Amino acid sequence: MSLDDNSLQMFQFIKRDALDSINIDPLQTGGKLTDAAKDALLEWGDGYSVCDYCGGVLDLIKKPPIEEFVHKMLPEFLGVGAARVTNGARESKFAIYHSLAMASGQSGPKSGYVVMDSLAHYSSKVAAERAGLDIVFTKPAEKPDYLIRPHDFLDAIEAGISEKGKKPLAVQITYPDGNYGNLANVLEISKIAHEYEIPVLLNGAYSVGRMPVNAKQLGVDFIVGSGHKSMAACGPVGVMGIVDADSDYAKNLFQKSKYNKVKEVELLGCTSRGAPIMTLMASFPEIVRRTKPENWEKEVENARYFIKRLEDTGKFILYGQKPHQHDLIFFEAPGFYSISEKIKKGRYFLYQELKEKKIHGIKPGLTKNFKISTFGVGKENLKYVADTFEEILKKYDEI
Ligand SMILES: *Cc1c(COP(=O)(O)O)cnc(C)c1O
Repeated sequence: MSLDDNSLQMFQFIKRDALDSINIDPLQTGGKLTDAAKDALLEWGDGYSVCDYCGGVLDLIKKPPIEEFVHKMLPEFLGVGAARVTNGARESKFAIYHSLAMASGQSGPKSGYVVMDSLAHYSSKVAAERAGLDIVFTKPAEKPDYLIRPHDFLDAIEAGISEKGKKPLAVQITYPDGNYGNLANVLEISKIAHEYEIPVLLNGAYSVGRMPVNAKQLGVDFIVGSGHKSMAACGPVGVMGIVDADSDYAKNLFQKSKYNKVKEVELLGCTSRGAPIMTLMASFPEIVRRTKPENWEKEVENARYFIKRLEDTGKFILYGQKPHQHDLIFFEAPGFYSISEKIKKGRYFLYQELKEKKIHGIKPGLTKNFKISTFGVGKENLKYVADTFEEILKKYDEI
């Protein structure tokens, strides 16, 4: 293989199967573009497209209305005093952890640490590691509900203090966790952390943009979200907010460069620039609409309908909170597993059956356990997916 014209042909007409299917992939349901975002993607797809009228600070650009978005609408939406757009939830977490580590003088291997729930996403772990911080986790969450209780955070904070002789620099809550869609009692956990004067970071990668989330009302100090996960943006793009914009935490997080007085250090001067931020803004009206309580309630209702349909077959076991509070759903599927054991195609049969029925989102090879998301799929389509699951079980004599 070389860079000749013939080889380069392979990049032409790249097509994507998933586009004409019902999508239940948890990574993808909340990041599907709105029509407005699709238009924005074409219009603003050129590199550095938003920089036409930039006076040196990306988030102060007036046309397109980035300043209005970042400094007025986004803070209101997140329930914070100040917000920024970043390149992703993980970049938001890294910026926060790094600013905490630097300000406390505890950056560097093993010097400072943070406390996280045992279900924390890998990106939270590497964000802390990259900031030179160690991690103390809450005790492992257990089958079948995998709940994380406020008390677990209390225990982890105490364990951290006795092991390391100092408080953690922050407590992070994954809301919901990325496997079971469990929503922890954030208010209670924040209260516990604040008794130790430890700031709380809410990882809302699966909530900000899907459901009502207000950092101030939840009692946390920092919040992060993911544009491509849950805000109908092409990404990579994320959001980050801090409740108290006058705090020392904010001063450190938004500290400006001594070499270039307008550029913020933790943001590396500028973050999302181009189509990612423009699709985020183009979808924002829809994001505000879909996160209204009455719309989110419908999503939860749909998730529960789907869970019930599957549970009624006797061949699916829900893990996680019951009644379920979120569209992210983890199943054990003994019926599908038993089919994979007895047929020649083995564990790839499910992916192939679903592909034929134009249902996308369960990874090829998975049968025994998988997670799916019902977000934005709609009751009609969910009925079709549940019917299809049932038909597959019947076809192979499992029910
Ligand atoms: C997807 C996910 C992330 C990562 O989001 P990015 O915006 O891609 O960095 C972080 N946390 C959780 C819980 C996630 O599910």
